Amino acid sequence: MTRVVIIGCGVVGAAIAYELSQVSGLDILVIDREYPAQAATGAALGVLMGIISQKIKGKAWRMRHQSIETYNRWIPEIEEITKTRIPFNRQGVLMLLMADAPGEYWGVSQWQDLAAIRKTQGWDLQVWDAQQVYSSCPQVQHPGVLGAVYSPCDRQLDPTLLTQGLIQAAQYRGVKTQFGTEVIKIGYLPNGKCVVVTHQSEMGADWVVIAAGLGSSALTAGLQQHIDIRPVLGQAIQVRLGHPLGNSQFQPALTGNDVHIVPCNGGIAPPTDYWIGATVEFANKEGEIPPNAELLQSVYSQAISFCPELAQAEIIKQWSGLRPRPEGRPAPIIEKLPNCDRIFIASGHYRNGVLLAPATAIAIREMIDSVSS
Ligand SMILES: Cc1cc2nc3c(=O)[nH]c(=O)nc-3n(C[C@H](O)[C@H](O)[C@H](O)COP(=O)(O)OP(=O)(O)OC[C@H]3O[C@@H](n4cnc5c(N)ncnc54)[C@H](O)[C@@H]3O)c2cc1C
Repeated sequence: MTRVVIIGCGVVGAAIAYELSQVSGLDILVIDREYPAQAATGAALGVLMGIISQKIKGKAWRMRHQSIETYNRWIPEIEEITKTRIPFNRQGVLMLLMADAPGEYWGVSQWQDLAAIRKTQGWDLQVWDAQQVYSSCPQVQHPGVLGAVYSPCDRQLDPTLLTQGLIQAAQYRGVKTQFGTEVIKIGYLPNGKCVVVTHQSEMGADWVVIAAGLGSSALTAGLQQHIDIRPVLGQAIQVRLGHPLGNSQFQPALTGNDVHIVPCNGGIAPPTDYWIGATVEFANKEGEIPPNAELLQSVYSQAISFCPELAQAEIIKQWSGLRPRPEGRPAPIIEKLPNCDRIFIASGHYRNGVLLAPATAIAIREMIDSVSS
């Protein structure tokens, strides 16, 4: 058996474990210093903006549509194996186009051009006028709405329940896990294989996948590799309204000016609660990121300005998380570590780790396939 050790059980590590669990002849171990989905993944809103992204070609576009396609296949598979429902909203993403949007935001004609390209690529992307927005989503009441882009093929899911489902399904297929265990070092054995060192033990591995998010830099530094991944804070809230906003039969994830309003329990029950977020906060000169209450308030105020009924909701939960962002290079980093033949890195997914987890897992499987054949 070929032993693969995956370090990290956020959504990326769990997706890799699930994908590799379908390859015969692998003995897979997933190690995490905490329990699954405790770090960035536990804070994420799970909005999958793949088809509505502005990427049109190359790896960035391929990873996005491949991930959406893969989730459509994975979710029923995982639900079947685990006998547990995963909130998976198949009603798409509706992006409001606002008259007061900052300059870098696209206007209606650019979205119409993208919709035409998506049509040639086999995907539905619709540009709506304001009238259509108000009639389909009566909760939206903002005089500055120019229209919207509706992406029926995009999705939203619960990242924590997804990650737990992925790892449980992987375990069902024979993957082993060790949680509450920190990896302190990765090295090489005289026979050329790897060794993964924890406080409790040292274990040999044919392949190591570093999917440790913000913990990845320290692990690669021990291998004399400088992979610089830094935190970007995001805050979000859950509000309780007690009933669905607008039309209970049409509850897409709403987004506008980079603020998301996400129906909870998507695809399972009509929502009574909504997630609203998230802030994007960088470190100060001291390298710290104290959560900024004003920024969170402005995200909430923006959401209320789109859907005034949200002002009557009660905030029942507030949280923050640190997104892993590669410094000085594009996100994410999915590659064989330079000069380390048996070690792969799948980290630094920044704002799109939930979206890109399936395509990342497929890329890692293809890399392992190509080096082992
Ligand atoms: C508020 C917020 C909202 C977001 N919304 C979205 C969204 O809508 N859509 C989207 O696609 N993305 C979203 N993201 C981004 C997304 O959360 C991340 O890109 C994604 O979770 C990264 O997953 P990961 O598995 O790489 O990292 P993580 O979830 O951080 O997991 C890394 C794991 O590695 C473990 N680890 C680290 N070091 C070690 C070590 N030495 N030994 C053992 N274990 C170790 C950690 O304990 C952790 O469990 C959001 C993020 C935030 C904060």
